[in-house]
Amino acid sequence: MAASATTPRVALVTGAGQGIGRSIALRLAADGLDVAVNDIPSNAEALRAVAAEIESAGHRATTVLADVSDPVAVDEMVEQVATDLGKLDVMIANAGIAHVKPLLEVTPDEFDHLMSINLRGVHLCYTAAAKRMIAQGGGGKIIGACSIVGYRPFPLLGPYSASKWAVRGLTQAAAMEWAQHGITVNAYCPGIVGTAMWDHIDEKLAENEGLRKGAAIDKYSELIHLGRVSVPEDVAKFVSYLASPDSDYMTGQSVMIDGGIQFS
Ligand code: NAD
Repeated sequence: MAASATTPRVALVTGAGQGIGRSIALRLAADGLDVAVNDIPSNAEALRAVAAEIESAGHRATTVLADVSDPVAVDEMVEQVATDLGKLDVMIANAGIAHVKPLLEVTPDEFDHLMSINLRGVHLCYTAAAKRMIAQGGGGKIIGACSIVGYRPFPLLGPYSASKWAVRGLTQAAAMEWAQHGITVNAYCPGIVGTAMWDHIDEKLAENEGLRKGAAIDKYSELIHLGRVSVPEDVAKFVSYLASPDSDYMTGQSVMIDGGIQFS
């Protein structure tokens, strides 16, 4: 059933307890959407704080604890969003993890674990959202977290880079298959964003390269033409556009929002 045009649109943001996902959730709420925020149970407290922040600004929010690599949990998550907020118009498959290790040391289990979140998790979120949007009948916006490493890998981030490269391919295929349903599918490719993820990458790169803490982020920051490390709000502003009707004629794109590190 098509949702009424007068009710606010509903977005679901995965991995929204902190970092880029949190910032996207706050921005979409400020844009006037009702927002469901997801994270894993170990981040439940932070997730509830994000929902409370949205509600205290006068918007509707709901929280859904789920691991995006679990197919049953992802289906139930989308069902819960529809129950709590009435429908689903915008899916942001943001959750992701990073491992920093030389390829020769990555174990098969580590590889599978990373892919289960960064690639299978995105696939599960994309497809669960698309099924819901097709059933609703009003089209929708599906948006995934890619990265500059989806275009040019970083050393010591091999499986992570491969997962983001694959998200770019999945985004293109999904865009082709679901255009007939009025669903657009795009991805954002941040560069170096000052979040817990980059703190972890910096620490591990420093360990591997015998550098002091902070040295790796300084080294990679020299690549940024706009001269500063990104903040999550830089990414959220672009995702706001991807989630809005202003991007209706854009699909299948994975767009760099990196201060000018990598050019497409
Ligand atoms: P972050 O580590 O700060 O936050 C990631 C969030 O995802 C956390 O709240 C975490 O609990 C959650 N999460 C992890 N596994 C999950 C799972 N299985 N199910 C549900 N939630 C899960 O990371 P961030 O920097 O905010 O990154 C967000 C996204 O942007 C990721 O996909 C990341 O790969 C991508 N990205 C980040 C950067 C960067 O510089 N930080 C650059 C390019 C791309």
